[in-house]
Amino acid sequence: MIKKLVAGNWKMNGSLAANEALLAALQPVPGVDVALCVPYPYLAQLQRRPSGFELGAQDVSEFAAGAYTGEVSAAMLTDFGCRYVIVGHSERRALFGEDDLTVARKASSALSAGLVPIVCVGETLDEREAGEVTAVITRQLAAVADLLGQEGLSRLVLAYEPVWAIGSGRSATAEQAEEAHAAMRGWLAGQGVDAGVIRILYGGSVKPDNAAELFAMPNVDGGLIGGASLVADDFMAICRAA
Ligand code: PGA
Repeated sequence: MIKKLVAGNWKMNGSLAANEALLAALQPVPGVDVALCVPYPYLAQLQRRPSGFELGAQDVSEFAAGAYTGEVSAAMLTDFGCRYVIVGHSERRALFGEDDLTVARKASSALSAGLVPIVCVGETLDEREAGEVTAVITRQLAAVADLLGQEGLSRLVLAYEPVWAIGSGRSATAEQAEEAHAAMRGWLAGQGVDAGVIRILYGGSVKPDNAAELFAMPNVDGGLIGGASLVADDFMAICRAA
């Protein structure tokens, strides 16, 4: 069985003082990998964090170095001890114009630097209602696979994040998540990679009261947690549920 991963996505939240208080309330959870994906400026602060918590970022440049004002490279993230970086979150796709190819390039630059990209895919409510869930997800995955190839694909963490479930308080049901995850794993197998060892996280309104049911699904290998990762007790409860 795949060891579960729970990654907190703080999004654009936090302050030195608030982070300090949150970190003080976190305890290691045995048997599960836990990561904190924090805003860039706080990577320095998170050099001191409780043991058992890996560090991650929420975005990365597709470029390696040079005259790219405002960008942050994958090598800079590894310099600060990051292991993970979220790539292609739906907020970046919808609000910052990231298309499938940009997402693939970012995943590629992360891999080149030794980071593990957490590549997010997922459909909007309109797309779900039109019966296009699998089509959308596989289109998003295919763009990444085209650029990275089998070898790169096998080194990713994937996250299924239905857009309508993010920050809405309306999680996908465990069955809806399982259906999408199973489709993703089937698609991966069709690419010739060892699909059984690739982690597929679920994200979108995971809370202490629905985490256990979601994580019990055979193809759900952990979670990407937004709002609830900012509340220590909630985040700890979700990690324990994994
Ligand atoms: P949420 O966010 O848990 O607040 O719904 C999840 C995410 O956007 O990764």
